[in-house]
Amino acid sequence: MNDAVMPTYGRLDVAFTHGEGSWLVDDQGNRYLDGLSGLGVVALGHANPAVAKAISDQAGQLLHTSNLYRIPAQEKLASELAALSGMDNMFFCNSGAEANECAIKICRIYGNNRGIDDPAIIVADNSFHGRTMATLTATGNPKVHAGFTPLVTGFIHVPFNDVDAVRAAVEANDNVVGVMVEPIQGEGGIHIPDDDYLPALRQLCDDSELLLVVDEVQSGNARTGRYFAYQHSDVLPDVVPTAKGLANGVPIGVCLARGIAADQLKPGNHGSTFGGNPLSCAAAIAVVNEIENHNLEARAAELGDRMLTSFRDRLGGRNNVKDIRGKGLMLAVELTSPCSEIVQKALDQGLLLNVTADSVIRLLPPLIITDEEAERICDVVCTLVEEQS
Ligand SMILES: *Cc1c(COP(=O)(O)O)cnc(C)c1O
Repeated sequence: MNDAVMPTYGRLDVAFTHGEGSWLVDDQGNRYLDGLSGLGVVALGHANPAVAKAISDQAGQLLHTSNLYRIPAQEKLASELAALSGMDNMFFCNSGAEANECAIKICRIYGNNRGIDDPAIIVADNSFHGRTMATLTATGNPKVHAGFTPLVTGFIHVPFNDVDAVRAAVEANDNVVGVMVEPIQGEGGIHIPDDDYLPALRQLCDDSELLLVVDEVQSGNARTGRYFAYQHSDVLPDVVPTAKGLANGVPIGVCLARGIAADQLKPGNHGSTFGGNPLSCAAAIAVVNEIENHNLEARAAELGDRMLTSFRDRLGGRNNVKDIRGKGLMLAVELTSPCSEIVQKALDQGLLLNVTADSVIRLLPPLIITDEEAERICDVVCTLVEEQS
């Protein structure tokens, strides 16, 4: 470990040198099956040839110009994402938090333009939206807030998956301009709301002229079995930030917008030096094409169902298992007590996974994982859970 790196992460003592597909190799030559994809990022697997070629071709041609000029790769990616999402336009940046910052700015300027000079956005308890000041304030987790007062004003927290709480907050405040939720809470522990939650929020936002922001930073880019998780319903949000799986590890974020939300930011209102540069967009175009060519949405849906069934068959009814849930390849085994030690135990067995919300084993395997690799993940996780009690 190196003291010159700020200790913002409790890191595991392992360093990977290379990878291929769903596998990583450390500097001792040990092999690990990647059940986490670098937190939902490397969805097409490590050293993906199509992505590597796109990056290397682009790097040999042009890395960066500036958003002061047209960027054909950005325009191409935008057209493809617009077609996939049903959204009208988008702003490119470099991370999930930045994509959410853009969403928050769209909500605020929408409010300001309507004469609301202290606009508020309704957000959910137990949510995660990032680590910048505005996005950490939006995040519904006191641990993320601790130590960083003064927080940003203009956020109202309500319980997740509770439309009545959103309605009550709208009725109690005339300055509400938007509602921002994850379609499935990721960091909060893979919490899937009821099927009628997003449709009811859509209706409420339509009735009260609010913008519906669906944070797809983790759930987007085919992770849950549809390109975006909101597409499991027939809801179209007004604003959709996404990032993690979009360029297989090249930093990128994007905030998509539709209708009136697409019409808010004008020249001078927002910007990013690196956002949407030729390199990140070339990588993302390769990812979007690979997802389509290999039918990875359907694959994620099918394999996710199979993994859920395996977990339920082997772990359902155990005393130490509270719940097993997931959609596509966004999966969780929630235990009845904190289980952070499982991360190191899995690493010792050659499997990368993560524990979030203290007691939730989270799996976000690459979408290109094979049947055998998926079975192996299930087997190692089940064995560790069985050994725990
Ligand atoms: C990871 C995440 C973010 C933050 O993304 P960064 O790229 O780390 O800034 C925001 N929202 C959700 C839902 C996330 O999972």
